[in-house]
Amino acid sequence: MTPSNMMKILVINTGSSSIKYQLFDMTAHTVLAHGLVERIGEAGSRLTHYDQKHNNAERIIETAIPNHERGLSELVQLLQEDARDGDEEESPVQAIGHRVVHGGEAFHEPTLIGEKVIQAIEEYIPLAPLHNPPNLIGIRAAATHFPGIPQVAVFDTAFHQSIPAHAYRYAIPKEYYESLKIRRYGFHGTSHQYVARQAANFLKKKSLSELNAITIHLGNGCSMTAIQNGKSIDTSMGMTPLEGLIMGTRCGDVDPALHGYLLANQDQSHMKSIQDVDKVLNKESGLKGLTGTNDMRDVFRLRDEGNEDAALAVEMYAYRIKKYIGAYFAALGGKLDAIIFTAGVGENAAPLRELALANLEPFGIVVDADKNNSARKMEGPVVEFQAASSKINLFVIPTNEELEIATQTVQVVNSLTP
Ligand code: ADP
Repeated sequence: MTPSNMMKILVINTGSSSIKYQLFDMTAHTVLAHGLVERIGEAGSRLTHYDQKHNNAERIIETAIPNHERGLSELVQLLQEDARDGDEEESPVQAIGHRVVHGGEAFHEPTLIGEKVIQAIEEYIPLAPLHNPPNLIGIRAAATHFPGIPQVAVFDTAFHQSIPAHAYRYAIPKEYYESLKIRRYGFHGTSHQYVARQAANFLKKKSLSELNAITIHLGNGCSMTAIQNGKSIDTSMGMTPLEGLIMGTRCGDVDPALHGYLLANQDQSHMKSIQDVDKVLNKESGLKGLTGTNDMRDVFRLRDEGNEDAALAVEMYAYRIKKYIGAYFAALGGKLDAIIFTAGVGENAAPLRELALANLEPFGIVVDADKNNSARKMEGPVVEFQAASSKINLFVIPTNEELEIATQTVQVVNSLTP
């Protein structure tokens, strides 16, 4: 396959009961189709599909979708119909990029999928029990439906494999690193890499390797990354996506001793097993645990109505971000081009950005309040909101993990061409 005909890339993100997909034309840089197969294996399963040829009108196909294979076969039929409508002779898909959550220490970059790669993803299931199994199902189902089409795995962890040992090791006995691979891996790598690349382009750097930045991804899951010379040198999520920032339902950093304390005080905590503790810290904590809702829009609404829990939650959430900015500012030796906010909260919540960056003038970080407040309405892939006196650029950059996966898939497939 040559770069000139390497055009249509299908990006698949498979969850336990869903498949999100986007079909890109990477020559014209457009999205040809996108959609979602949801409630796989449950009542009410359906496929919602949008494609350019039908002016992106919503098409909903309600049918029994007992498993991921069936979900993909419904999707393949639609893509083939779209291709036939356009009298296209070639296959509707020329390569497939898969989001894979955990690549452990084995994968530093996007990788062409073969049997060995599948085995390695299987080996990392204990580190990502909720994510790697559905990712594998997606890979196998795609191989059945698109035989001979190259498939590429793009790992959430890969961008963070450049983190040095002093930042990725935990200070626990070495044997647990050696036997159980307990260490910081970090996640959201594709998003951090994508927004960093956008910032490098915007700042007219010759390549990503010239960028120093702190990237702040605030969605339902939240993480921050220190980027030096285009490479991740530290990140806030750890062995699992629980560590670091306060998130929608996850607590982020806590004293590890509280797990034992909660179990030792079952009468009050009502926790009987480590699974109970895990569930509370992952699913019932963060904004939800503090306020009753995990949606930042509702938290702000409650705060504005005078709810004190919501006011405290916003303060805590912003303060945690500020602490990591301080840590990463120091890790980068104060040399950074930009601080970048992205994902649902990062892109939309101006008051949150302002709070997290307040009183950092001595660090050369100065917000222009008006630009920050109007950032949402501005056009373009990069919106600036630093004041003229700020030494460090402040950016809002909408993330696009699917486009980054498609870009990396093209790179891998092109590199195969002799
Ligand atoms: P995911 O991690 O699921 O991809 P997103 O990046 O879409 O999540 O972020 C979802 C979150 O973004 C929502 O839970 C909501 O809290 C937040 N959000 C979206 N719009 C706004 C807004 N206008 N103001 C504050 N928060 C917002």
